[in-house]
Amino acid sequence: MAVELAHQACIHPDCASTYEAGEVLSRCPRCGSLLDVRYDWDRAQVPARLRDLGRFDVPAGGLGRVSGVWRFGALLPFAPTEAQVTIGEGHTQLRPCPKVAEYTGIDPTNLSLQYEGLNPSGSFKDNGMAAAFTHARLVGAKKAGCASTGNTSASMAAFASASGLLKPVVFVGSGKIAYGKLSQALEFGARTLQVAGDFDDAMARIQEVCRERGVYLMNSLNPFRLEGQKTIMYRVLEGLDWEVPDWIVVPGGNLGNSSAFGKAFLELKDLGLIDRLPRLAVINAAGAPTLANLVNREGLRWNEGRVDMDKVAAYYRGLDERGEKAHTLASAIEINRPVNLTKCLRALAGLNGVVRTVPDQEILDAKAQVGTEGFGCEPASAASVAGLRALVAEGVVDRSARVVCVLTGHPLKDPHATVGYHGYDAGQLAEAYGGYGVTRAAYRNAPVPVDNDLGAILKALDDA
Ligand SMILES: *Cc1c(COP(=O)(O)O)cnc(C)c1O
Ligand SMILES: [Zn+2]
Repeated sequence: MAVELAHQACIHPDCASTYEAGEVLSRCPRCGSLLDVRYDWDRAQVPARLRDLGRFDVPAGGLGRVSGVWRFGALLPFAPTEAQVTIGEGHTQLRPCPKVAEYTGIDPTNLSLQYEGLNPSGSFKDNGMAAAFTHARLVGAKKAGCASTGNTSASMAAFASASGLLKPVVFVGSGKIAYGKLSQALEFGARTLQVAGDFDDAMARIQEVCRERGVYLMNSLNPFRLEGQKTIMYRVLEGLDWEVPDWIVVPGGNLGNSSAFGKAFLELKDLGLIDRLPRLAVINAAGAPTLANLVNREGLRWNEGRVDMDKVAAYYRGLDERGEKAHTLASAIEINRPVNLTKCLRALAGLNGVVRTVPDQEILDAKAQVGTEGFGCEPASAASVAGLRALVAEGVVDRSARVVCVLTGHPLKDPHATVGYHGYDAGQLAEAYGGYGVTRAAYRNAPVPVDNDLGAILKALDDA
């Protein structure tokens, strides 16, 4: 059985404890560090060539035909085929985007956007949930829980109701969940608690509740979830005809994605399936800059696994003393205590990565640019595009580099942000978004009120 190929391992080199794949853990019980899923690759059936991965001619009855995660099952071999859970996730696209390329300063043919909004619940989270629900099924879990800025809960609720496997419990912060996302958790039937606090508070409470009540944790602390998110990068490679790009640019919130991407590429390199690594750029919102501050100001590094956690604790104490909370319109990355911090540092070290912040003004402008390509994204996703633009201007990313920005979520998740940007006049914009530093809409496309009269309508059309 495939399960025996996998185990869990503490990522701290001085502990390095291992645990069976069948245990339900979100941190190392001995030292509290994060856990990895590791494999006995010698016994796994990994194809010898990258281009043999992800083929659609999977065995009869296999889920590879319907799942963009499980068709890469050879690279996350922790579950037998018959245990795999899917809701049809991972049919996403790598789209060449010349207009956005021009906006960022990249050569027109060299920028592609990996559009994860095409997932069934509208965000990349579905890739991870397919893997986490599969593990939950293997261990016989009955209840699933998560804290969420919105998309994790939408995805978890979708998997729970579609699979009928687990009862979903969702904790959201009481402030600012985008309606598109909240509507999904409610409609899919998740028990939804609005915790009086922000995401970081909800994340702390859900971990306590999972311990107290034996609820299976679906946040990205769960190492199995990150295994599913590795497949986003396999599909990027597939979209580039199996060539490794120069840069991967991704928004950073709880830092699960960046961690999973790092693991994906480092494993492929170790397996001899790729001969070079891309560089990684993780983009924080300026209003939620923990990773950027720790890396760029405090000099925090992976340091072969011995991360200076005193430095991290001191940083968090400072946030508390100043009463500083994360504050950005990009609600999916409004997170100041990213749970996967150490794994992300490992990815940055392994992929020669950089971290930047972008203000909300630039995020919304970049989002409007993505819209010109005819698909769009939610605000947090556009941080990747805004971040790339900044990195090109700095000269860190070369204009001729081959770049992939990950668009993490669908534009209809947060239509308020879009309609506000395009529809508000300067006064309304200042009132609604001034607190986020957004004062103008450079790419505004406002709706035009017109009388119900042919002459007036024709005149309005001619004026355009
Ligand atoms: C969850 C999410 C993020 C943040 O991803 P992390 O893995 O937590 O860093 C970014 N964008 C969207 C749309 C999300 O749903
Ligand atoms: Zn440990």
